Amino acid sequence: MSPFEYPPLKTGAKVVVLSDWDGTITDRDSNDYLTDNLGFGPDKRRGYNLDVLNEKIGFRDSFIEQISSVAAKHSFDECVEFLAEHINLDPGFEKFYNWCSSNGVPVVIVSSGMAPIIRAVLSKHMPEAAKEIDIIANDVKFTDPEGKGTKGHWELVFRHPESHYGHDKSLAILPYRDLDKPPVLVFCGDGVSDLSAAKHADLLFAKERADGESDLMVYCTRNEIPFVQFLDFHKVEDKVKELVDGKTFPQILHEERS
Ligand SMILES: [Mg+2]
Repeated sequence: MSPFEYPPLKTGAKVVVLSDWDGTITDRDSNDYLTDNLGFGPDKRRGYNLDVLNEKIGFRDSFIEQISSVAAKHSFDECVEFLAEHINLDPGFEKFYNWCSSNGVPVVIVSSGMAPIIRAVLSKHMPEAAKEIDIIANDVKFTDPEGKGTKGHWELVFRHPESHYGHDKSLAILPYRDLDKPPVLVFCGDGVSDLSAAKHADLLFAKERADGESDLMVYCTRNEIPFVQFLDFHKVEDKVKELVDGKTFPQILHEERS
């Protein structure tokens, strides 16, 4: 199966949760962290992120520069090891995921990061979830003859190379609209990789990151896209429970504004 095939839609669920991975399910963005520590560093990286937020360049072109600066100096395995050691999960995510699993609420990861890295980091913290959860992400290609991804010999492969997003996350959301009984669509995100998804969820959760970088909130405020602000998944769990219990998403958004 191609790594870019979409998993089957989660039919029959009342609510479906799609979530960004980096900085949303994790405590910090692993690609930012890689670039800051193993690539060209935080100042240049932040400059690229702001350029994406201000729509001067697309996420795809920014991301390729960032990851190339890492790949030039480190093997892929070194990067996976480094991230597995330093990246932790949001303090509420495991409880949220377990509640969803027991209550018929599918959770799908929709990421612009690289699927093998996501699977490796999740395996360390939630091994059972890592085996079963659907991950819709970008991928990585090894270009050395041995196929090991040695220094200078691995690169990003975008799910949608023709899109300036690299991975257009709306394409993971929109097919749900065509179902006979579409679920309430929840999307959780935090940053510039989520701009393609922001307009398309019924209920958008935008994470306020501990480092004060909250690019998705800035984008949504500028573009008048309603969202629920959250610090960790404890709040998402509370709101998803309310949806399952019959509260509507406009009610939740209304309560958030007042
Ligand atoms: Mg993110």
